Amino acid sequence: MDVARSRADNEIRQYLMLIGDTWVEAQDGRRFDSVNPFTGKVWASAPLAGPADVRAAVTAAERALDSPWGRMSASQRGALIRRFADLIAGHADELAVLETTDNGKVLRETRAQLAGLPATYHYFAGAADKIHGHTIPAPQTNFFTYTQPRPVGVVGAILPWNSPLFLLASKLAPALAAGCTFVAKPAEQTPASTLAFARLALEAGLPPGVFNVVTGAGETGAALARDPGVAKVSFTGSTATGVQVMKSAADHIAAVTMELGGKSPNIVFADADVEAAANGVIAGIFAATGQTCIAGSRLLVAEEIHDELVERVAARARTIRLGDPLALDTEMGPIAFAEQLDKVRSYVDLGLDEGARLVCGGTRPDRDGLRDGYFFEPTVLTGVHNDMRVAREEIFGPVLSVIPFRDEDDAVRIGNDTSYGLAAGVWTRDVQRAHRVAQRLNAGTIWVNSYRTLAYNVPYGGFGSSGIGRENGAEGLREYLQTKSVWIELTGQSRDPFTLG
Ligand code: ADP
Repeated sequence: MDVARSRADNEIRQYLMLIGDTWVEAQDGRRFDSVNPFTGKVWASAPLAGPADVRAAVTAAERALDSPWGRMSASQRGALIRRFADLIAGHADELAVLETTDNGKVLRETRAQLAGLPATYHYFAGAADKIHGHTIPAPQTNFFTYTQPRPVGVVGAILPWNSPLFLLASKLAPALAAGCTFVAKPAEQTPASTLAFARLALEAGLPPGVFNVVTGAGETGAALARDPGVAKVSFTGSTATGVQVMKSAADHIAAVTMELGGKSPNIVFADADVEAAANGVIAGIFAATGQTCIAGSRLLVAEEIHDELVERVAARARTIRLGDPLALDTEMGPIAFAEQLDKVRSYVDLGLDEGARLVCGGTRPDRDGLRDGYFFEPTVLTGVHNDMRVAREEIFGPVLSVIPFRDEDDAVRIGNDTSYGLAAGVWTRDVQRAHRVAQRLNAGTIWVNSYRTLAYNVPYGGFGSSGIGRENGAEGLREYLQTKSVWIELTGQSRDPFTLG
């Protein structure tokens, strides 16, 4: 059976889940709808997996660990991942269109993300046969001792809606390179691209059960995190949900990688190139409609250039082209779903109640072509203090909170005054200041004179409430390995059984 078929009556695409090598409905036949945030209409539906479906997927993944997948050489595994990468490259455009239809992110970004995806898989394919242990000169000279990195086992991946396949790649590619098997649970708002993508895994020749997809909402995710067959839970999403997922994983001692929220400071010093900084501020908060965990949602600006920078940012914000996310000249698409739009709107109201001033935006656009979609104008709030809720809580939308600072110490203090620690931007022409501030900021990623740049070989992850563990690069691969130590006795002599050898 194919992954999706259209119902002739209303053209809603009916997706199926992949368990082992079979496309299936949920065992109890339940389904859920996915809404296109540009039209506000249902365009796809997918099975609502219950605990029994999750169990079946995890069982398939457990069996696959012991299948040809578990027995093949690391080089063969790498070759399979390479074939998978090439198939992804051949389907990047169609996957990008699915993703944009599901979450409203502009096609110019989803296309670039999907076109870049094969490089992530190629990078980790190359790493597969470079995973090796060490020999260790243990103090017991009658032993030959070595370590062997082993796959952690079945990975349960729970994913958000903002960049489904891009975020999946940072988990799946290293997990496959390590020799793990995988059950993915995409977000309920965006099941389509991951299900279409799963077809390519089978086509590439990954043995059945190596990559499975179950679809559904939080309860499906919770069943996956709770399943005792899952050895590692890899989660990307909000901090509040991450806490729940960690608790479920703790019940059966599963390892976790947590990529959580942020309230990242974009810090502009008075000596910065103000035009470049304004552009970076726009990229940080209005690209992807601000729906990224790395959003530079707090603009910390030196008092001397506050008015000039705010004016530049607001002037550009007012000209951002909102529109159909599938149109290549659109710069900002809609918010991904109705509840998220309500959340963004209520935070703007809250900020104004707290005493912030509205420089631009703050409403839904009332223009032809934008009324059906979940659009919200790019919004700039000034007069924000770092103790206001709009400065402390993740809004996950196109809302910038501007906070002035006096000097370098003040900037670092405000930058670090957050429970999060995902990313930070530093804008200065002073190379010494750039290094000083980068060292003092508590965040997993620091950009100097740039913002929102990531790569498959550069570790990424959060300090504090922003997460645990790292994705990408060699550190991202280690998340899917566990070390075995092997002791080989060399002399054949027996020893006193009542002492430690
Ligand atoms: P958002 O990113 O919209 O804030 P979440 O962090 O809640 O949303 O969602 C991220 C992913 O976590 C989604 O796939 C969602 O279905 C899943 N999820 C939500 N609640 C739970 C839960 N209690 N346990 C496991 N997964 C969950």
